[in-house]
Amino acid sequence: MTGRKSAAAPRIASSLALVGLLATGCATAQGAEGTKSAEPAPNLSDLKQSIVAYHDSGRWDADIARADQRGQDYLARRLAQGVPKPAIVLDIDETGLSTYGYEVEHDFGYDAAAFDGYVLAREATGIAPTVDLVRFADSHGVAVFFITGRREGPEMRAASAQDLREEGYPEPDGLYLRPADDHDPSVVPYKSGARANIEQQGYQIILNVGDQDSDLTGGHAERAVKIPNPMYEVA
Ligand SMILES: [Mg+2]
Repeated sequence: MTGRKSAAAPRIASSLALVGLLATGCATAQGAEGTKSAEPAPNLSDLKQSIVAYHDSGRWDADIARADQRGQDYLARRLAQGVPKPAIVLDIDETGLSTYGYEVEHDFGYDAAAFDGYVLAREATGIAPTVDLVRFADSHGVAVFFITGRREGPEMRAASAQDLREEGYPEPDGLYLRPADDHDPSVVPYKSGARANIEQQGYQIILNVGDQDSDLTGGHAERAVKIPNPMYEVA
């Protein structure tokens, strides 16, 4: 998806931040005579291995399940109070669908064209506890909206909708893809704007589920639920 290009910059930011951390560590160690870096920079290979271990141990899945359960508990409490036109919004990658397979194949590096190929081939897999949360919402009359940083385009829209369907999600009430001409360095204006648009349709957004702070900031939702994602950061 060419559209993910501008998302590439923020994603690379996490690598740059790491480089910055390394540089800072060096500066501290070398620049101030007689002082040692209080905390040595982590080793990149170790970090990657720790992510694989987090995945393979089942701890990641367990943490995701706990987060989704918190969301479902809150949703159930609010529904019991009676909400006229309730809705939930969710991010797609690392929230509704996992791209862990891509990340491992590419040694946790981001290549926009390869990533686009992966998602267009509908290789991203359903995140079971999030599927359960969305099914719960849907079966209780809650409108479901996905708001993704994937770039708008007919192929990407069709592949995203189809992959969600194949992985067990009910048909959503809306699917927002990031406009191709949105080059803001942050996805926050787009994502919070999409939520505002949903509210303008009369919905009350009870829950906003995402794996990035940028999915969750900017208001227009009662409660935010953060799905753990140690692999990358999107501004
Ligand atoms: Mg995401």
